[in-house]
Amino acid sequence: MTGMKAIRRFTVRTLVPAQISALTRLATNLRWSWHVPTRALFESFNPELWEKSRHNPLAMLASLSREQLADLAANPDVVARVAQAQESLESYLTEPRWYQELGAGTPECIAYFSPEFGITEVLPQYSGGLGILAGDHLKSASDLGVPLIGVGLLYQAGYFKQSLSRDAWQQESYPLLDPDALPLTLMREEDGTPVQIQLPLPENRVLRAHVWRADVGRVPLLMLDSNVAENDDAARGVTDRLYGGGGEHRLTQELLLGMGGVKALRVHARLSGTAAPEVFHTNEGHAGFLGIERIRELMDPALTPEPLTWGEALAAGRASTVFTTHTPVPAGIDRFPRSMIEDFFAGPLAPGVPVADILALGAENYDGGDGEMFNMAVMGLRLAQRANGVAKLHGVVSRGMFSGMWPGFDTADVPITSVTNGVHVPTWVDPALAELARERFGAEVLDGPDWSKVYEVSDEEVWAMRRRLRLALVKDARRRLRSSWKKRGAADAQLAWTDAALDPDVLTIGFARRVPTYKRLTLMLRDPARLKALLLHPVHPIQIIIAGKSHPADDAGKKMIQDLVQFTDDPEVRHRIVFLPNYDIAMARTLFPGCDVWLNNPLRPLEACGTSGMKAAINGSLNLSVMDGWWDEMYDGENGWAIPTANTGAGDSERDDIEASALYELLETQVAPRFYGEVVAAAAGAAGASQPHQSALPAHWISMIKHTLAHLGPAVSANRMVAEYVQRLYQPAAEAGRAARAENYASVRELAAWIERVRPAWQEIHIDHVESHGLTDEPQIGETLQVRAHITLGSLSPADVRVNVVYGTAGDSDELNNTADLALESVQDNGGGKYQFSADLLIDRSGDFGYGVQVLPHHPALANPAELGLITTA
Ligand SMILES: *Cc1c(COP(=O)(O)O)cnc(C)c1O
Repeated sequence: MTGMKAIRRFTVRTLVPAQISALTRLATNLRWSWHVPTRALFESFNPELWEKSRHNPLAMLASLSREQLADLAANPDVVARVAQAQESLESYLTEPRWYQELGAGTPECIAYFSPEFGITEVLPQYSGGLGILAGDHLKSASDLGVPLIGVGLLYQAGYFKQSLSRDAWQQESYPLLDPDALPLTLMREEDGTPVQIQLPLPENRVLRAHVWRADVGRVPLLMLDSNVAENDDAARGVTDRLYGGGGEHRLTQELLLGMGGVKALRVHARLSGTAAPEVFHTNEGHAGFLGIERIRELMDPALTPEPLTWGEALAAGRASTVFTTHTPVPAGIDRFPRSMIEDFFAGPLAPGVPVADILALGAENYDGGDGEMFNMAVMGLRLAQRANGVAKLHGVVSRGMFSGMWPGFDTADVPITSVTNGVHVPTWVDPALAELARERFGAEVLDGPDWSKVYEVSDEEVWAMRRRLRLALVKDARRRLRSSWKKRGAADAQLAWTDAALDPDVLTIGFARRVPTYKRLTLMLRDPARLKALLLHPVHPIQIIIAGKSHPADDAGKKMIQDLVQFTDDPEVRHRIVFLPNYDIAMARTLFPGCDVWLNNPLRPLEACGTSGMKAAINGSLNLSVMDGWWDEMYDGENGWAIPTANTGAGDSERDDIEASALYELLETQVAPRFYGEVVAAAAGAAGASQPHQSALPAHWISMIKHTLAHLGPAVSANRMVAEYVQRLYQPAAEAGRAARAENYASVRELAAWIERVRPAWQEIHIDHVESHGLTDEPQIGETLQVRAHITLGSLSPADVRVNVVYGTAGDSDELNNTADLALESVQDNGGGKYQFSADLLIDRSGDFGYGVQVLPHHPALANPAELGLITTA
C-alpha cells in the first residue's frame, strides 16, 4: 500500500456541490468530534448512512451519491444550515478566547509531543489513557485559544482491534488505515510535492517520513508517517503500529517522533509563516529525543552562526522544555540498551553532538540503576527545566521514585511538581445531558466554573436523565454482546438471551480500562460466590459492564480477561455481568454516562491519575475507587466511595483478599441499598419478584449526583488542566527560553560557564561550624534565634551559593517536618575561602523545634535550587 495513490478526498471535494461545499471543511476539522450541532447536521442528511459510516463525516460524505448530494444542495434549508455551521466553525477558529485575554508576553507557540493521540475513534492512534489525555489536551487548548501544535506519529494500523475466541482468549487484528480516507491533509511544499522529513541512520540508511496534518479545532496536529515509497522496507515499517515491536523498532519510532518531530515543526513554521514554538512539552519520555535535535540545531554552525557548546545548548534547550511523567510503574518507562543508543548516535544522526554526553543524559547512575540501560524518563528529566506528575499523589510518588537522581536532597525537594489531569468536557458529557444543560442554562455552562446550577434541576429530572443514559448503555451493550458471541461462533438461534441481558432499572457498575496487572481487572472475582450473590440479590441486585484491552504481548493480562469472561459466560449470571470487546472512544462515550457507579481498584499508588472516573463523574456517575490518582485528592465523602487500602505490609494475595472484601462490603451495605432507596424493598416485597422497581426517588443518591456534578465538574475539566499548564509551566518556560536566547544566547553562555566552574569546585565546600544563641532557657514563640554558620567555600564566592537554615518540627529520630527555610547573609570574609553567614530566625511554632544548615548553588537562571543536584548539609 502506498500513501500516495488515488486521493479519495480530492474526489469528494470535487463532488460536493458549491452551495454546500463547506461540508468538506466541516468534515475535515475534527471539531466535529465534540461539537454536537455539527454531528447532528451530518446525521440529519441520512441517519442510516451516518450509522453505517460509524459517525465519520468524511466517510459519510464519500458514501453519498451524486444525486443525494445534488438534492441536498437544492434544499434551501440544508444550504442555510450548512452556512450556519460554517459560520460557527469560522468564528470558533478566529475569535479571541481565554488565552487572548491573558495579555502580552504569553508564549506565541507551544509544541506538544506525544506518542499517541486519542481524538476520535475515527483516528485510532491511541491505546489508552495517555493518548486520550493528549487528545483532550489539544481540544481544551483549542477551546481556550492556546496556540499549541501537537506532534505525533501516524501509525498505519494504529492500535489493535480486540475480539475473543470461543474460549475467551483475546484476539488481535490490525486493519490498515488509508490516510487519504481520514480527516488528514498531507503537508506539501509550495510546489506541491509532499514534505519529506529525513533522519540519517547508521550504515548509510535514511528514514524518510511524510507529514499529515489533522486540524483539532484551532490546533494543528502534525503526524509523521514513514510509509513512503523511497524508504527501504524496515524504514517503511517504522510507523506500522502503535507500540508494535520492541527494541530497535521502538527506538526508531521514538527517534522519528522526537527528532523528526522538531524537523517537521520547522517546516510547518516555514510553510505557514507562523511563529516557531517557544515551549516544548513532552507527554511522557517517548519523545525525549526532541531535546537532542534542538541541541543539534544550536551546535550546528550552519543553523546557529556562533554555535553553542554542549553545555550551553543543553541549558538553552532545558529552559524552554516541560516534561510530564505519567507512570510510577517501571514497566511503563522506556529503556534501551545503552549500546543501541550509542550505535545510532555514532552515525550521522546528530553530527557534532558528543555521543558520550547523550549517553550520560539517560544514564541510571544512581542507587538501584542499571549502568547498561538508557532510561527515557531520566533523559526527559535532565532535558527539561520543568517537570511534573499528573496528580498530587503522583507528584509525591514521582519525587520518591526519581529521588536517586538528587542525592542529598529531601524527597520533598526533588524538582517535580504536579498538574492533575483533566478531561475535555464537550467530548465526554453525553449529548443528552449537554442538551439539557444548554436548554436550561445556556451554551456556556459546561465550559465554565459554575456547575452548581445543577441544584436547580429537579430530582425527577435528574433521575429520568440517569435512566435514559443507562437505557442507552444497556441497548448498546446488548448489541455488542450479541456481536461478540457471533464472533465466538454462536448462532443467532442461541443468542435470544442477549436481547434481555442487563436491565435498565438495575444499579449499573462500569469497569473499563487497559488490563495491566496493577489495575486488577479480576479483583471482583476474588470471591466468586460473593460476587454472584451481589449480582443476583433479590432486592438490591447489581449489574456490571466490563471492557478492556490487554497489551498483545501480555499473557498475564489475557489470562485475566479469560478468567473474567469465563465467569460472565455462566448462564446463571450472564444477564447481570458482561464483557464487551474492543474498548475504544466510541464505546466509552456511551459507557461512562450509562453507569451509575464507576469502579476503579488499582494497587495504590500505581495509578498515576486515571481519567475514566472523571469522565463518569461529569455525567453524574458516582465513583467507587481505591484512594489513588485523582481520587486521592478529590474524594470528599459525598461524591462517591473510597475503597480502603490494605496496609502495604500485607503480601500481594492477602492484600487482594482484604481489598476485595472491602469492596464487596461497600457494595452490599452502602452502594446498592442507597441506589434503591427504601422503596425497592417494599416494591420487591409486594411483587415477590426479583425484578426491582422504583416507584420513588432515591433522594440521597440524587443528592450525591448533584454534589458530584457541582463540585467535580469544574475540577476535572481539561480546561482547568490546560490553564494550569499555561500559567504554571508554559509561561515560565517561555520566559526562561526568551532569556536564554537574548543577545545571542549571552545568558546561557554565562550560565554554562558558571556551571562548569561551580560543579567541580562544589566538593571544596564544607560547613565548618554552626552556632546559635539568643534563646531564653524556656524558649517561647516569638523569640529570636541567632544562627551563625562558618563555611569554607574554597574557590567559590558567597554570590555563587545560597546558605539556608532549614527549620521545622523535629521528629523522634531528629528528622524535620513541616519545614521552612531562611537564607543566611554573608557577613564576614575570614580569608582563605572561609566565610561567616548569619541570620535571625523567629521561632514561629511550639513543640520540638529543630534546624539544620544547607548550602545550595545560586544563579538567577536556575528555576529550582535542586536543579544541578548539588547540595552540602550540616
Ligand atoms: C479515558 C479512557 C481511558 C483511560 O482510562 P483510565 O481509567 O485512566 O485508565 C482509556 N481508554 C479509553 C477509551 C478512555 O476513554
